[in-house]
Amino acid sequence: MLTESTLDPANAVYRQVIKAGDHWSHVIKKGQTFRILDLEGNQAADTLFYNAHDPVDRYSASDTIRCQQALYLTTGSKLMSSGGHALLEITADTCGRHDTLGGACSRESNTMRYAIEKEPMHACRDSFICGLHDHSDDLGKRDITCNINFFMNVPVTPEGGLSFEDGISAPGRYVEMLALMDVIALISNCPQLNNPCNAYNPTPVEAIIWD
Ligand SMILES: [Zn+2]
Repeated sequence: MLTESTLDPANAVYRQVIKAGDHWSHVIKKGQTFRILDLEGNQAADTLFYNAHDPVDRYSASDTIRCQQALYLTTGSKLMSSGGHALLEITADTCGRHDTLGGACSRESNTMRYAIEKEPMHACRDSFICGLHDHSDDLGKRDITCNINFFMNVPVTPEGGLSFEDGISAPGRYVEMLALMDVIALISNCPQLNNPCNAYNPTPVEAIIWD
């Protein structure tokens, strides 16, 4: 559902542009509002959330899908954790659809899906590992679970098929969510060049936080 926010970025307490292909992580406090802004359009923001006080309790795609009885995320979606907690709730969305199923690209999946020569290409899984290490040496590869792909279009066919399609986002579109707990947000601003999830041209997004 398309809904606009009344919040003004001029009043934000935090703003950070995440360059194309880069990673970013930050603690968002309970009660703060977090926006991801698609600056140039058609950019997938692969995102994970963790309970900041107990990172074993983290975003769970299956619990989120079951709780809301829907596959796509938009306004009103509660992002559920593996421990049954609502981590955040989407409160505004000018894109209208965000993927829960496609997962993150990796060097391994690039070789399997595209070509063995794609192995050295930068991928989201490596960015997630770097972002987790920014928080703690105790967090690593095993803590990466099925992520949200904000702004990514992965339609499910009536037969249950999945496909990676050209995005439906555009410059200036955003998704905004209220933190219901203290959470660690981790974004890999997807560097993928082998499918249309970034329109074959990765671009920056911006993280914005309000108290
Ligand atoms: Zn990716």
